[in-house]
Amino acid sequence: MTKLASRVSRIDSSGIRKIFDLARSLKDPINLSIGQPDFDVAPQVKDAAIAAIKAGKNTYTQTQGIPELREQVARDEKDFTGRTYSADQVLITSGVSGGLFLALLALVDDGDEVIIPDPYFVMYKHLVNLFGGKPVYLDTYDTGFGIDPERLEKLITPKTRLLLVNSPANPTGRILPKEQLAGIAAVCRKHGVTVISDEIYRAFAYEKLTSMAEVYEDTVVLVGHSKSFGMTGWRLGYAAGPSDVIQAMTKVQQYSFVCAPSVTQYAALACPQVDLTGNIDAYRRKRDLMIGILGSTFEIGSPDGAFYLWVKAPVGHTGDSFVQLAIQNNCLIIPGSVFSERNSHFRVCYTVPDERLRQGAELLCRLASAKPG
Ligand code: PMP
Repeated sequence: MTKLASRVSRIDSSGIRKIFDLARSLKDPINLSIGQPDFDVAPQVKDAAIAAIKAGKNTYTQTQGIPELREQVARDEKDFTGRTYSADQVLITSGVSGGLFLALLALVDDGDEVIIPDPYFVMYKHLVNLFGGKPVYLDTYDTGFGIDPERLEKLITPKTRLLLVNSPANPTGRILPKEQLAGIAAVCRKHGVTVISDEIYRAFAYEKLTSMAEVYEDTVVLVGHSKSFGMTGWRLGYAAGPSDVIQAMTKVQQYSFVCAPSVTQYAALACPQVDLTGNIDAYRRKRDLMIGILGSTFEIGSPDGAFYLWVKAPVGHTGDSFVQLAIQNNCLIIPGSVFSERNSHFRVCYTVPDERLRQGAELLCRLASAKPG
């Protein structure tokens, strides 16, 4: 056997892979596991991509991204957060995944502690481990999946380097209110902790949303086009933050991704022409539809945004055992243990047609009242 680098053994993809393997064995499952929108890229953006290809814009771009897109990002950020970013404070990345990869590589030294609110987006834990950091989990189950600044402060040690914030969140859908963000900012400022704020679900907010960048200067904000514009395969996003961090991330990008895909960068210049209201309203309605059915049987977190419900497994079940039962009955959901150090919940993604949602939700309710086998 080939000898692999030890860092690879620090990450583990078995939880989620098991679900996708099972998914392959099912015939036409009710699939509530997907984690991406069900709408296609808007015609204006497709046309812009085709025009860019035909115009020969197929070469490398500047490492930090094309200037027109960085200027557009700076304008968008000014509108959304009120914060002014100069050109050297914006980096175009290969999705938010690319941004996370670069930010963690640029900021985490061996043994540095990174505070991750639990439940968390699955990539955080594994990237921190891959890069030699130490994940420190901030339990949020009894604070309505919000972040209690006092509890946060108790976890801070001289080794704490970063806090990862995700609002609206995957998997809970929770939006952190402005007062809570201000409390988090005060603690982080006091202890010199940088925040990486993953705001990939910014467009999917059904309650008032504030960016971490609005309240805390030492924030690296990561935003992506994947979810808002149905462009998950196009690999585009950006990072905005303090110049020294963005410069360091740019240096790492130079020797890794090189640049974000050129064609999608040019296509993204058409994104401001796209009206997202219809898509967002549709998902808000789907969320309400699902809560309407599941809410009487299950305990559900506060799904203020994104397109997920974080649902507590019924009495007698762990998250894993209930998901196994659902999969045996042809409904795919994701066990909470993939997103958490606990095994008590499961994640439902509601970006599928209403009829399927109804079938899935009714099935889950029926299974909850069946005796665990
Ligand atoms: N952050 C969160 C919270 C996500 O849910 C996802 C996608 N599932 C990503 C980042 C990565 O998105 P992308 O790389 O497509 O921008």
